Amino acid sequence: MTQSNVTAGQLALGRLPSDAGLKFQPYWWDAAPRQHQADEDLPHHAETVIVGSGFTGLSAALTLQGAGRGAVVLDRGVVGFGASTRNGGQIGSGNQKFRVKRLIALRGEAKATAMLREGVDMLDYIETLIRNERIECYFERCGRFRAAMHPDHYEAMARDLEDLKAVCGVESFMVPRADQRSEVASDVFFGGSVLPADASLHPGLYHAGLVARVREKGGRVIGNTAVEHIDRDGGSFRVQTARGAILAKSVIIATNGYTDRLVPELGRRIVPIGSGLIATERLPQNLFDALLPNKRVYGNTNRVFYYFRGAPDENRIIWGGRVGRTASSGDARNYRHLARDMVRVFPQLDSAAITHAWDGMIGYTFDEVPHIGRTSGGVHYALGYCGTGVSRATYFGHKIALQVMDDARGRTSFDDLAFPAFPAHPIAKRAVPVVETWYRIRDAMK
Ligand SMILES: Cc1cc2nc3c(=O)[nH]c(=O)nc-3n(C[C@H](O)[C@H](O)[C@H](O)COP(=O)(O)OP(=O)(O)OC[C@H]3O[C@@H](n4cnc5c(N)ncnc54)[C@H](O)[C@@H]3O)c2cc1C
Repeated sequence: MTQSNVTAGQLALGRLPSDAGLKFQPYWWDAAPRQHQADEDLPHHAETVIVGSGFTGLSAALTLQGAGRGAVVLDRGVVGFGASTRNGGQIGSGNQKFRVKRLIALRGEAKATAMLREGVDMLDYIETLIRNERIECYFERCGRFRAAMHPDHYEAMARDLEDLKAVCGVESFMVPRADQRSEVASDVFFGGSVLPADASLHPGLYHAGLVARVREKGGRVIGNTAVEHIDRDGGSFRVQTARGAILAKSVIIATNGYTDRLVPELGRRIVPIGSGLIATERLPQNLFDALLPNKRVYGNTNRVFYYFRGAPDENRIIWGGRVGRTASSGDARNYRHLARDMVRVFPQLDSAAITHAWDGMIGYTFDEVPHIGRTSGGVHYALGYCGTGVSRATYFGHKIALQVMDDARGRTSFDDLAFPAFPAHPIAKRAVPVVETWYRIRDAMK
C-alpha cells in the first residue's frame, strides 16, 4: 500500500511536503507489475517481427499465432512500457473525435459512414476478444458521461448524437444540468450526454492477459530490445536490434506515441503528445458512491479535455488530462493542473491523498485519424490513435496481422486514406505546448 502525504489540494497549489511519498508510476502497475526479464535469447529468424509491445503489437501477435504464423514482439523498454499500461482504460468507439457532420464534410458521406460504423465494430471487437480469451480485466459496459463545459456544447452534443444514432445506431441520452447530479456530484458542468455502451477496463490486467495469451500460443514477447534499423534483405527484412539481428518475412510497426525515426516515413507522420493521470487514495464508500453514482467513465467537451473514472474494485478516483513533458515525469509540477481540475470539479476531494502520478505518450496524426497500411519500403504499420486507442489499437492490431497474411478480412475503411505528414514536423513537435496553451485559453473563454 502506497503511503502518500500529499493531498489533492496541496498538489493543486504546488505545495508538496518534502516527504510527499507520491509514487510516480502507473497505478495499474500495482496489480500488473512490469516483468523485468533477464535478457532472453533473440531468435535469428521470425515470420513476423512486431515492434512495440502494446495493444497493437500484442493483438497483431495473437491473430498471427492464432493462424499458426510465428510472431516475435520486441520492445525498447520493459514489455508494456508504452501507453497501453498507462492509459485511463476508458473504451469507446473513437467516434467522439469528430462531429458526424464534420467527418462527412471532410471525407464524404460514404467514407465517413463506413469509418463511424467501423468505430462501433472496434468496441465490439475488444469485448469479444476479452471474452473469448478469458482475460480477467474488469471489462464492463459501464457507459460514458460526457460533461458539457458550456451551454452551447450541450446543444451541439445533442445534435451530434442524433446524427451518430442515424448513421451507426449508437444509443445515447442527454442529461440536462438540472438532473446531472444523478450522474456526477458536481455543479460545474452544463449537463452532459450518456453513451451507455461505452466501456472500461483495467489496462494493466488487460495488457498482462494479452501477453500471457500470445505466449501460450507460442509467440515471443521480448523487452529491453530496441529495434535500431530495418533493412531489406532480398525478400525479407533484417531487423537490427541493440542485441542482435533477426531475419523476418514481415515487420509490423506498432509504436504509436513512441514512434521515432526508425522508419522516417512514419516518424514524420506522428507527433507524440504527453498525457498523464493521478490516482487518489481509497475513498470512503459513501463518498465514492456519492461522487460517481453510476460508476461510468467520464470526460468533457473541451479541446484540451480531462477525464476520470473510479478504479475497478477500489474506491479511488483516477483523473487524467494532457501533461507537458518536464525533464522528468517524476516531477509533481507536471500534474498540478490535473489536481486543480479535479478539486474544482470535486471540492470534496481537496483533502484526499494522491498516491500515484504518471504519464505516457499518445500518437497524434495530422488528420486526427489512425492509420493502417504499408510503407514504401514494405513495412506494415498501425498507429496514430490520437489518444483514443484502447479499442482501436486492439482492432487495428488484428487487422494489420490479417493484412500481413493477405487475408481479405483484414480490409478496413481506413486502408485507402492518404496519410499526411506534418508540415515542418520538428516544429510541430516543439509547438505542442504552445498549441495546447492556446486551446486552454479558448476553452476558458468559451
Ligand atoms: C496517459 C494516457 C491515457 C490514455 N487514456 C486512454 C483511454 O482512457 N482510452 C483510450 O482509448 N485510449 C487512451 N490512451 C491511448 C491508448 O493508451 C493508446 O492509443 C494505445 O495504448 C496505443 O497502443 P499501442 O500498442 O499502439 O502503443 P503503445 O502501447 O504506446 O506501445 C508502443 C511501444 O513501442 C515501443 N517502441 C517504440 N520504438 C521502439 C523501437 N525502436 N524498438 C522497440 N520498441 C519500440 C515503446 O517502448 C512502447 O512500449 C491513453 C494514452 C495515455 C498515454
